[in-house]
Amino acid sequence: MLRVAVVGSGPSGVYTAQALVTQTLLPDVRVHVLDRLPCPYGLVRYGVAPDHEKIKSLQQSLRAVLEHERVTFVGNVAVGGGDGVPPGRLGELYDAVVYCVGAATDRPLGIPGEDLPGSHSATEFVSWYSAHPDAATDLFALRARSAVVIGVGNVAVDVARILARGADELRPTDVPQPALGVLAGSRVREVHMAGRRGPSQARFTTKELRELGSLPGARVVVDPAELALDPAYGDAGPGTPPLPALVRRNLDVLRGWASAPPRTGDSRHRTIGLRFFLRPVELLERDGRVAGVRFARTAPDGNGGVRDTGTYEEIRAELVLRAVGYRGMPLPGLPFDAAHGTVPHRAGRVLRDGVPSPGEYVAGWIKRGPTGVIGSNRSCAKETVASLIEDAPLLAGRTSSPDPLAVLRSWGLRPVEWDGWLSIERAEATLGRSLGRGPVKIPDWPGLMGAAHGDGPV
Ligand code: NAP
Repeated sequence: MLRVAVVGSGPSGVYTAQALVTQTLLPDVRVHVLDRLPCPYGLVRYGVAPDHEKIKSLQQSLRAVLEHERVTFVGNVAVGGGDGVPPGRLGELYDAVVYCVGAATDRPLGIPGEDLPGSHSATEFVSWYSAHPDAATDLFALRARSAVVIGVGNVAVDVARILARGADELRPTDVPQPALGVLAGSRVREVHMAGRRGPSQARFTTKELRELGSLPGARVVVDPAELALDPAYGDAGPGTPPLPALVRRNLDVLRGWASAPPRTGDSRHRTIGLRFFLRPVELLERDGRVAGVRFARTAPDGNGGVRDTGTYEEIRAELVLRAVGYRGMPLPGLPFDAAHGTVPHRAGRVLRDGVPSPGEYVAGWIKRGPTGVIGSNRSCAKETVASLIEDAPLLAGRTSSPDPLAVLRSWGLRPVEWDGWLSIERAEATLGRSLGRGPVKIPDWPGLMGAAHGDGPV
C-alpha cells in the first residue's frame, strides 16, 4: 500500500488524486486530500465567477473523485506557513506528498499609488464576491461611479462583468448575501478595462470576451482608432502568416463593437470601455484615496511588444482593480523559484539543489505557473503521478504512521472530513431557502466551522 497526501483540493489536487486512484500499476494507493479551508474545490469554488454556472458544475465531477473509496478529504488543515504543518513533518506521515497549492497571491504592479485605499487586487474582489472566508464581507462598498480594471486577461473580464451586472442577474447564483446587497446598491456606471499592449495580444478568450456584449444592463465601447493601431487589425496582406485563430476571433468581436451604431433609446445604464495601448504608470490620489490612473500611451514596437510614445492619458476612477495575473507563494520548507513563482521540479518531482527529493512532488499552478484552463491541470497531474508511480518502489513503507489523521488530531488540529463538508453544503442550502434563493455561500470562518461541526449557528 502507498499512502499519499495531496495538499490542495482545487482542480490540480483533485485531478492528482484521480490519477493516483485510477492508474493500474499500483492498485492499493490511498490518498488524503488536505486543504487549509473546510471546503473543497479551490478556485472552482473561490475563483470561478458565480455567473459561470457551467464551469461551476465541474464541482460534480471533482466531487465524485473526493467520494472515491480510496480518497479522503481532510479540510481545515493548513500546511506550511505560520500555524501550518511543516512539509517535513507531513512527510513523516505519508509515503509521498504532492503539493497542489496553486498560485495564492496576485502579481504586484510596482507603480506609485498601488496601495491607496480604493485600489485592490482583482483577487481581493473575486474572494469577496466568492465568499472566501479570509475576505472581509465589508471590503467593498461600490460607491465609485467609475472603475478601472488593469489587465486584459480572463480575470479582468470576470471582474469587469461582475461590476457591470445588476444584482438581479446575480441573485440566482450562490453569491453571498452581504455582497449581493452591496452589488444591489452599486453606483458604478463606467468600467474601463485597460491593456498595456494591443488587442491581438490580449489574454482573454473569445467566449469570455463575447459575454461582455450580452449583459442586459451594460454596453461595450471600443475605440476603432485603438484597434487600427494594432498591426494585426488590418486584413493580413499576401505573404503574411495567418493570425492565430484566437486572435482572429477576438478581433472580429472587437471590430463588431467598434463599428456598432448607437442604439436609439438605449436603456443600458452601464458602459464597459475596452481600452488598449495604455501602460499604467501611477495611481492618482485625492483626499487620501485613489482618484484615477495615469497611463503612458504605447504603440506597437514591431516585435509583439510596445514602446512608450511619450504621451499620457488619465482615466478618473474611484475604484481600481489590478488584474495582472496570479503568483505562486513560497511554502516554508519547500524550495522556491522566486523568479517564476513556482517550485523547481523535473516532471513533477521536487528538486532540492537540482536533485529530485524523494517523496515530494508538485502539480498545477505551483508547478507550471498560473496559466491555462482548468482542464490543463489534468495532463499536468498525470505527468506528476506517472513520476510518483515510477518512484513507488523507493517510497512504499517510508511512513511509520498507520493513521495520519489521528496524528494530525494529536497535534491539536481539527480536520473537517467529508461529512463536515456535506454539513456545510446543507447549511448553505438552508441559508439560501431562508432568503428565498438557491444555495448561498457562507462567507466567514465561524459560520463555516459551526456548520461543519454542526455545533454552531450559521
Ligand atoms: P493573464 O491571463 O496572465 O492576464 C494578465 C493580464 O495582465 C495581461 O493582459 C497582461 O498583459 C497584464 N499585465 C501583466 N503585468 C502587467 C503590468 N505590469 N501592467 C499592466 N498590465 C499587466 O492572467 P489572469 O487574467 O489572472 O488569468 C490567469 C489564468 O486563469 C489564465 O490562464 C486565465 O485564462 C485563467 N482564467 C480563466 C477563466 C475562464 O476561463 N473563464 C477565468 C479566470 C481566469 P501582458 O500580456 O502585456 O503581459
